[in-house]
Amino acid sequence: MAIPTGVACACGRVHEPLPTKIIIRAGAVESLPILAGELAEGVPLVLFDPVTHRLAGENIARAFIRADKPWERLVLGSESAPFEPNEAALEAVRATIKDKQPGLVAGVGAGAMNDLGKFVAHEAGLPYISVATAPSMDGYMAPISALLIGGVKVTYDTKAPDGVIADLDVLAGAPMSLVSAGFADVVGKLTSLRDWELARVLFGEYWCRAVSDHVEGIASRLFAAAGALAERSHDSVRLLMEGLLEAGISVFHVGSSRPTSGSEHLVSHYVEMRRFNEGGRPPAHGHVVGFGMLVIAELAEKMRGLRAEDVRKTRFTPADMEQVLAELRLDEVPGNFGKSKFDAEIRDARLPVIASRWDDILAVLEKVPPAHKIREGLARVGAPTNLRDLGLDPETAMDTVLHARYMRERYTMLDLAAELGVLEAQAANIVRKYA
Ligand SMILES: [Zn+2]
Ligand SMILES: [Zn+2]
Repeated sequence: MAIPTGVACACGRVHEPLPTKIIIRAGAVESLPILAGELAEGVPLVLFDPVTHRLAGENIARAFIRADKPWERLVLGSESAPFEPNEAALEAVRATIKDKQPGLVAGVGAGAMNDLGKFVAHEAGLPYISVATAPSMDGYMAPISALLIGGVKVTYDTKAPDGVIADLDVLAGAPMSLVSAGFADVVGKLTSLRDWELARVLFGEYWCRAVSDHVEGIASRLFAAAGALAERSHDSVRLLMEGLLEAGISVFHVGSSRPTSGSEHLVSHYVEMRRFNEGGRPPAHGHVVGFGMLVIAELAEKMRGLRAEDVRKTRFTPADMEQVLAELRLDEVPGNFGKSKFDAEIRDARLPVIASRWDDILAVLEKVPPAHKIREGLARVGAPTNLRDLGLDPETAMDTVLHARYMRERYTMLDLAAELGVLEAQAANIVRKYA
């Protein structure tokens, strides 16, 4: 189902048409000179790292020769010092922009390159084209950039790309671990959409059926296409890339990341922050999202066994905020932290509301896919289905299950499970089951 644009939607809003130009097809990198010309007059500056330069540099150079258009290229990082979106890379691009005065920036790569490209283009007030080389994560369209500043991951508001080029020949050749991470990130919408619906039932939060059905359609079709994706068929890679871009597009239509980032993403936020703050590197974003889905599916199954009378009788004590901050190696409370969730009074006031709407909540929980199905799908594309393959020790995993919900104020099924006493009761079982 498509999202209606430019006319009144049943949700009460008018969704604007997407301004980003998206080209998804085999051989799409050849369109870069034309798309760049449509978006800006000046010479395009194209950013690569050594890997993406080997992958697409020659095809892009040939396309500019064929189009008879000038261009500039900058290869960031080297074989000995791999590219990172850090101060050194920023300075290199800033110096080149000052020297060459380009009319547009294009970044050839995946997450890190796109983060850097959006940042420098935004800073210089130039249009930006993302040339995707791996269907690995859902951040291509996000108007934010995560950079490594002083060795720490810092997120900045930047801008969504003005153009996206997704070449199916290039994407289908990406390493399977990147493909499987992207798969899990898209399939993760099957739980984030339920979190969004739960917020509508519990708090009357804004919700749009057209957006929800649209995102769910893509995620479900991709889930069913896991076998084809393992074979890297062009159709399934296209569906995957559409799903990754659709995440950002739905955020654009809704004005929040509700449709695409729920409980499963809180799990990835927790793991990513903890690992970065420990000075290590987290597992692939999508792979942690996949584990997050398994956790939610287990909890949803237990919650489905409760009746409204059980809900009224539950006991629950929130975690100690100091302890959660210490686990994450944080000295102060981050601005977007879920502070209200540490308040037992707020939860106590919510309990009668949860009980009175239990039938509607059950209807939402019913739609969460069963854990064994999720595990099967992840296994089919070769994504990790246990903590060892994911690279998470049992202690980190236990803290993650119990405390991921505090990463944001956003209310999800993780909070519901915690407030109903199910999370505490099940955490150890879940960690053991997926060890
Ligand atoms: Zn709508
Ligand atoms: Zn994601």
